[in-house]
Amino acid sequence: MPELPEVELYGRYFTRHALGQRIARVRVLDERILGAVRKDAFARMLRGHAFTGVRRHGKHLFVDAGGVWLHLHFGMSGDLSYYALDSPPRFARVIFDFDNGAHLAFEDMRLFGVADTVPDPDAFIAQHALGPDPLSLRLPEFRRLLANRRGAVKSTLMSQDVIAGIGNLYADETLFQTSIAPRRPVDRLSSSEVATMFATMRKILLTVIDLKEHDRDYPPRYLIHHREEGARCPRCGGTIGKSVVFGRTTYSCARHQM
Ligand SMILES: [Zn+2]
Repeated sequence: MPELPEVELYGRYFTRHALGQRIARVRVLDERILGAVRKDAFARMLRGHAFTGVRRHGKHLFVDAGGVWLHLHFGMSGDLSYYALDSPPRFARVIFDFDNGAHLAFEDMRLFGVADTVPDPDAFIAQHALGPDPLSLRLPEFRRLLANRRGAVKSTLMSQDVIAGIGNLYADETLFQTSIAPRRPVDRLSSSEVATMFATMRKILLTVIDLKEHDRDYPPRYLIHHREEGARCPRCGGTIGKSVVFGRTTYSCARHQM
């Protein structure tokens, strides 16, 4: 399931391939992918324009099309594919045909994603009460965001109205590497734990973006390789346990995460 690092890479892919060309035609192959916008309106708003810039906020991608923005959310299985010959990928839901003869498809097998248009990303972010993006966040603001929260620290990290972009995998990874148990009440974290958690979360996100950009695997000591009940903890040799926090399957080490 795409989280912040994956969406960042979709944004870079979009930038690398599909900026600056005039959109000759917009084809909606499956209307279920569109949000509130109608098929004809969607095509009309984008046709004849060119995509000029990409902006990511959390797991949302916004692409400037001059007066209107394309908004993409990748759901569980969204993907982008830029190709020359007209042989669209199997699960293409929307295809942009460019003047140069190439195409960009938004694919989504499971249809949990969205492709629509928004007039203004900042208004969208405000309307949907999305918190700040962790990569443009600083520690004092992070402390303020956590200040009045209650409940499990993992739930807080995953709440998109606190910070936008952290999902199940990277919440677990952050807490694992910070030695904090997922169920610890967020208001009981010490000041230095909050600082460490913040720095670790950002480091993980930046590391994963960089690794994936170069098609490399996660570092060996990451929890992500050991998400299995009874697995051996790569940090302390303890045992990885499985539980449910915030409705999501959670892996952690009871020995070194406290
Ligand atoms: Zn451990």
